[in-house]
Amino acid sequence: MSESSARGILTIDLGAVAANWQALARRTAPSACGAVVKADAYGLGVARVAPALFAAGCRTYFVASVEEGVELRGILGPDPAILVLNSPEPVRDARAHDLIPVLNSPAQIDTWIAAGRAAGAVLPAAVHVDTGMNRLGLSAHETAEFAVDRARRDGVDVVLVMSHLACAEDPAHPMNRHQLTDFLRRIAALPAAPASLANSAGILLGQPYHFQLSRPGIALYGGQVSSDPTLAMAEVVHLQGKIVQVRRVDTPESVGYGAAFHVSGPSRIATVAVGYADGYPRSAGAQGSDLARGSVIVSGMRVPIVGRVSMDLITIDVTAVPESAAHSGALVSLIGGGMALDEVASAAGTISYEILTSLGPRYERRYLEG
Ligand SMILES: *Cc1c(COP(=O)(O)O)cnc(C)c1O
Repeated sequence: MSESSARGILTIDLGAVAANWQALARRTAPSACGAVVKADAYGLGVARVAPALFAAGCRTYFVASVEEGVELRGILGPDPAILVLNSPEPVRDARAHDLIPVLNSPAQIDTWIAAGRAAGAVLPAAVHVDTGMNRLGLSAHETAEFAVDRARRDGVDVVLVMSHLACAEDPAHPMNRHQLTDFLRRIAALPAAPASLANSAGILLGQPYHFQLSRPGIALYGGQVSSDPTLAMAEVVHLQGKIVQVRRVDTPESVGYGAAFHVSGPSRIATVAVGYADGYPRSAGAQGSDLARGSVIVSGMRVPIVGRVSMDLITIDVTAVPESAAHSGALVSLIGGGMALDEVASAAGTISYEILTSLGPRYERRYLEG
């Protein structure tokens, strides 16, 4: 890559991922701590993130699909348990790569029982019970039916019973207690097996939510799931864009598409080569005639985005920044480096999960080893 490339730089701190996992594992001990690495480890690159988690001690992984599970098995080798959240199919690949499906419905249970019969074995699986998401998992009625159906119960080796919290990031929400109570009732009806309820935010709800295994995702990648500063996660992502031009403007000029931003006096506007095609949210820029809500860091100073976010570019007001710092070729911090991931997300009206999983392929990716 040439020195003058306009590409943005996405730095991913694997040491911080490992430290975040270890902090959560300490918090949940003696119960086990897994890691959710679906969607390419929330966009950060499962091929680099998963080995860092393995080195930190993680031995249980969750992915969304069998395809992701096959890829992860290739990355991590035979040792860790890999659970597939959404479907046991394609069954042949799941079996060939020793994946444990999370069975979400009676139909999925039957699919897995049939796979076991064909193999002359009772195959391991997790059973997901729905305690309030109304998304995946057995309903109360289906759980009760499964619990008394000997033929089906004996047809799978239930290695985990799990459920998923709907409101864990709001500790005061009555739904948390409600789901916990329902989960305890379901566990009591099902064959004895380790249980799992907590995602990242669920871990912070405390020990009653930990059961035998937790399933953090976003907190590993630097998402803040608690307003308590002693529970802050280490920053994992630093996204920098390069200034490709600085322009002097004065009234009555405007900036960008839709002429959405009007300069109010002599200004310097810098153009940065990152846009919505790179996953930088268009909603962080001006909407209609409103001012943009997003900001970036230039040489330690916070400056506003002005005008709309374009496909490959954003414009920022660097009038307050010395010319020696805001010049063509200088790097600005879009995420991290003083711009908290969660702040970028809320300025764009979204959540950290969507910001991370949208990070595009055009960046130069740099991984920092722990
Ligand atoms: C994605 C997912 C998680 C991880 O949730 P975070 O909020 O990212 O910690 C845990 N459990 C299930 C079932 C999930 O789908």
